[in-house]
Amino acid sequence: MEATRGERREEDMAGEQQGGIAGLRQSLDEVDSGIVGLIARRSSLIADIAALKGRGAAALQDADRERRVLDGVEAVATDLGVSASLVRRIFRELISDSVAQQARHLNGDAGGRVKVAFQGAAHAYSDAAARKYLAGRGLDGDLAGHRTFGEAVSALQAGDADLAVLPIENTTAGSINEVYALLREQDLFIVGEETWKVDHCLAATADVPLSSLSRVLSHPQGLEQCAQFLQSLPHAVPTTFFDTAGAMRAVADGGDPTVAAIASPEAAAAYGLVVLRHDISDSRDNYTRFVVLARTAAAVDVRIPCKTSLILVTRHEEGALLRCLEVLSGSGHSMTKLESRPRPGRPWEYLFFLDFEGNGAEPRTAAALDELRSSALYIKVLGSYPAKALRLRAHPGDVPGSPAQESPADALEAVAATAAPARRSRQYKLVDRAARPADTIVRVGDLLVGGDGFAVMAGPCSVESREQIGATARFVRDHGGHVLRGGVFKPRTSPYAFQGLGWEGLDLLVEAGREAGLPVVTEVMAVDQVQRMAEAADILQVGARNMQNFDLLREVGKLDRPVLLKRGLSSTIEEWLAAAEYVVAQGNQQVILCERGIRTFESATRNTLDLSAVVVVRERSHLPIIVDPSHGTGYRPYVAPMAWAARAAGAHGLLIEVHPSPADALSDAEQSLSFDEFGALMRRLATIPGSPDAA
Ligand code: PEP
Ligand code: MN
Repeated sequence: MEATRGERREEDMAGEQQGGIAGLRQSLDEVDSGIVGLIARRSSLIADIAALKGRGAAALQDADRERRVLDGVEAVATDLGVSASLVRRIFRELISDSVAQQARHLNGDAGGRVKVAFQGAAHAYSDAAARKYLAGRGLDGDLAGHRTFGEAVSALQAGDADLAVLPIENTTAGSINEVYALLREQDLFIVGEETWKVDHCLAATADVPLSSLSRVLSHPQGLEQCAQFLQSLPHAVPTTFFDTAGAMRAVADGGDPTVAAIASPEAAAAYGLVVLRHDISDSRDNYTRFVVLARTAAAVDVRIPCKTSLILVTRHEEGALLRCLEVLSGSGHSMTKLESRPRPGRPWEYLFFLDFEGNGAEPRTAAALDELRSSALYIKVLGSYPAKALRLRAHPGDVPGSPAQESPADALEAVAATAAPARRSRQYKLVDRAARPADTIVRVGDLLVGGDGFAVMAGPCSVESREQIGATARFVRDHGGHVLRGGVFKPRTSPYAFQGLGWEGLDLLVEAGREAGLPVVTEVMAVDQVQRMAEAADILQVGARNMQNFDLLREVGKLDRPVLLKRGLSSTIEEWLAAAEYVVAQGNQQVILCERGIRTFESATRNTLDLSAVVVVRERSHLPIIVDPSHGTGYRPYVAPMAWAARAAGAHGLLIEVHPSPADALSDAEQSLSFDEFGALMRRLATIPGSPDAA
């Protein structure tokens, strides 16, 4: 059939149109490659700038310069009739990419391959965030999904992964408690962060009406972030699943069209599902922040804008948190996050998770951290790491001592300072007097140990019975003692000697202490005793034989309970302070040192009580030191004179063995004082001036 003239005309027009579009598309392609070419040129100029900055020129991020660039391109856009906001968005991306490129250069990141653990199945948000983080650092990765956050962390700890990327907070659902708990409990460091815009969709195996859905699967966070949307579904029961992408996979595998899942559209596509609804989050701006964890802390060049994260337990008294925050604000650090969590086993007491802008490698930030350590009961620095999306300050110069105020020479000095810390012992730094000129005061209930205070801890070598420990507790209290001692796990030279009453003894000790109104101290011998002991005892003693049991030191370092660290039988003062460093480095700031005599050639006494250690320790460290003249001499008549001498030398207290009937004591009978002898010791002690200025 012949076409009419009208039909021919339409065909011609369509053909012309197609030719025209093809031509225009070709021009568009050329413009696009031109844009990419310009981005490449921009990037090579950035590389030249990074090389110059690497030689010590300007700070990495210059807020004023960034603002001028954005204002400049926006003005050009307005002149050319292009959307200013579109151009601003594009240039924000370009600038943030240049900053990342320069940061990689400054930090000497040479790229490479890393193994990354995350929680969830392939295509989970954590997977996407981990890939984004690696791309930003020029790294390639082998990513492995794990069932739980704990398993992802175990893979990291076991060396099966170099990094773990875990979500820490979401703008809709809040903090992720489980990850905070892992940060508190495990030896982990934050080496980076990443943000991800969460775009939840609802997907099923077929395009079914929403009213036909019986179940919706997702990670609890996914369900929580879409709670309002889920309430609008008439019959669907929200069902928790171990991750979002895994929920999609389960829906695909199950093949039941009445079951849907919530995850990203990418996950829906990956598992061949049909998206029933896009953008179902209750909040349109739903972001998740991820932390990147490693087994060791990262050192980040001081010119890279950083955040520092820490966990803090403040003293349980009015204004304690405020004082810690004042340390930060007073030193020009702005806080980006403060979150409180209940302290396990301590009703109405809190742990604080705190992020602030700063890099621990900068002297200013290191000084603020040292000051925080002296105000807090417990502090664990989780790491300093390059910050994502720091707010640009209107006037960077306003903040005293901020990086923006530093001259290039200052920045170089700061780098040098981190390379060679100023005259600090290489074995320890946190317990060094140089790090903290003021004495550490350890608080045991109302009792202060350290500074000008003098604390007497007394009781039997071993808890033997309810009567024995009860009578001793009352006597010690009535004669001016402050803390009740009593061993329940005993480190005995012979395996045939009395080994202590164990947990039953601990109950008796705690009961006697409570009835007399005295806090209690007892020895913890093994890592697996620490948690249970910390729930009951007020002070945990690490005995002389365990002074270098580094696993035990690390374990008590995770507590927020005071630790009494005895000097090892043949340890130098430096080794002893290094052992204390193990505890403090884990976060626990409350360490009391105890001199208890050392092995020498002298055999007239059980040990040689080294009272000079009191003056040496007070000079070298800010930690309190007490003296144990019972184990230090081993003989009852020598105990009181050495106790008085210890006070005169400037000790912060005593640890004394006293027993209702020393001759019958099941351990250390020869050195235990009778009640009368203890009473006499205390009366004379009151007449001896302490020596708080001994240092
Ligand atoms: C003790 O105090 O009971 C004890 C065993 O001490 P040391 O570890 O100093 O021997
Ligand atoms: Mn003893």
